Amino acid sequence: MESEEFISSLYLDKILDEYLLFSPKTLHLIRLDNESYELLNHIKKYGINEGVSEFLKRHPRLNREDVDRIIESLRALDAVPYCLNDDYNSPEVVPASVALYLTSACNFKCVYCYEQQHGIPLFMIRDENDADDIIEFLLSKGSSKLSVGFFGGEPLLNFRILRYIAETLSRRATLLGKAVNFSITTNGYLITPSVVDFFKKFRFNVVFSMDGPREIQNHNRPTKTGDSTFDVVMKNLRLLIASGVPVTVRATILPEQIDKYFEIFRFFVENGVGSVHIEPASIGSNSFREIIPPLKEQLRLVAEYELQHIEETAMFRYSHFRKYFAILASRRALLYPCGAGRKLFGISSDGRLYPCQRFVGMDGFVIGDIRSGVDISSEVIQKILLNPPREPCSQCWAYPLCRGGCYYINYMYSGDIHKPDPYYCEFIRELIRLSMWLYIKVKRSHPVVFEKMLKSLKYNSPLAGVSEASADESKIKRRLVKYGVRSREPRRQHQVWK
Ligand code: SF4
Ligand code: SF4
Repeated sequence: MESEEFISSLYLDKILDEYLLFSPKTLHLIRLDNESYELLNHIKKYGINEGVSEFLKRHPRLNREDVDRIIESLRALDAVPYCLNDDYNSPEVVPASVALYLTSACNFKCVYCYEQQHGIPLFMIRDENDADDIIEFLLSKGSSKLSVGFFGGEPLLNFRILRYIAETLSRRATLLGKAVNFSITTNGYLITPSVVDFFKKFRFNVVFSMDGPREIQNHNRPTKTGDSTFDVVMKNLRLLIASGVPVTVRATILPEQIDKYFEIFRFFVENGVGSVHIEPASIGSNSFREIIPPLKEQLRLVAEYELQHIEETAMFRYSHFRKYFAILASRRALLYPCGAGRKLFGISSDGRLYPCQRFVGMDGFVIGDIRSGVDISSEVIQKILLNPPREPCSQCWAYPLCRGGCYYINYMYSGDIHKPDPYYCEFIRELIRLSMWLYIKVKRSHPVVFEKMLKSLKYNSPLAGVSEASADESKIKRRLVKYGVRSREPRRQHQVWK
């Protein structure tokens, strides 16, 4: 690749106090000094000849040889393309993770309620026979490592069936040599000490839906009869944390609350939550338009707070930063934005299959049922599997790390799972920019913590696998050929960047 073409493919950005270079072709992320940053920007803007002479006019102490050395050293980045992770990217359709709707009934009436949006009628897995059909489907059609997530409505309203499925599935999976793990997404109101014991016994991960401090929680998430919920769910959250059950808090934030985003994040970490996910309520098209400028400001505060505390925590508590840190560390691009419709499926209480939990109940997204299995020829699955880069993603520097965004959010905006809301894209790119900034900051200023973070990802990340640095070369080449990525011979790198 010629220098000019190569340089024009780079993404350059000043993120807070750092000048960064990111190569979407190789996933290298590098901190630049301000002179190299300026030079590359000039070349991108004016082309190589005019860009270099313009740059040299401003920096008379440098000469053309210095410039050539910088360019040549950066070209070394072009030598090693990124690789892809088979587990995460494989187009094979096998349920490895399912979101099981135990009931559409709920004891809450949240202001942004998903059930109300889709008008889902009351469904419930009522007896053990229906549960057995689901268990049969999971054991016969599911992968040898299964993740089962219980959803609703409020899944604890159907605790009898939940317990039956967890007990039966665990026992039968063990006999078949399969591994199964469980999670639950709950509003936390019905958690009791005996429910906590059950979670511990079956090693549940709990996704605890709670929106923040008293005023916000009580406003957004009252009971069905309009009562406040903060005191009960806070007590139950503390009980879970004290019992050592792994908890991720999932908060939903309304547009008018966006300036409290950081406050909500801090509220949870100060109350001992190790993993926090805060998502703007996706309430139809244009839900991101108004909130982007204040949201960016709030995300910056979250990033700075994470950096301040990284020595104590040795991992980000903010889930989006963890995700992108893992991708950057692995240098493995995504082929799909998520596992929906390939590895991940939503199962409704009446046994129909959907691409993921958020599509459950949407008529156009039924892709089979537990008796006949996944219909791979369905239009939805085919659309998910065939995912060539298209506008605007094909022009986006973040594409290898994002791969087109959430199908559900895209669909709610445009009616097309592959057509994203440009304002939602700004949110994603801001998350990635700040993750890059954190990556470089931790790597440079906290190298011991950085190594610890890499080690923990090796075992926990869905992206874990063979790393580009440690993999044997023939394996990488096979992967590259498989995914149609051209391999080039690595060249020696000259380190002139910082
Ligand atoms: S940020 Fe938006 S444009 Fe860029 S890859 Fe993701 S969905 Fe596509
Ligand atoms: S489609 Fe969206 S909500 Fe569903 S699994 Fe993918 S990212 Fe998650």
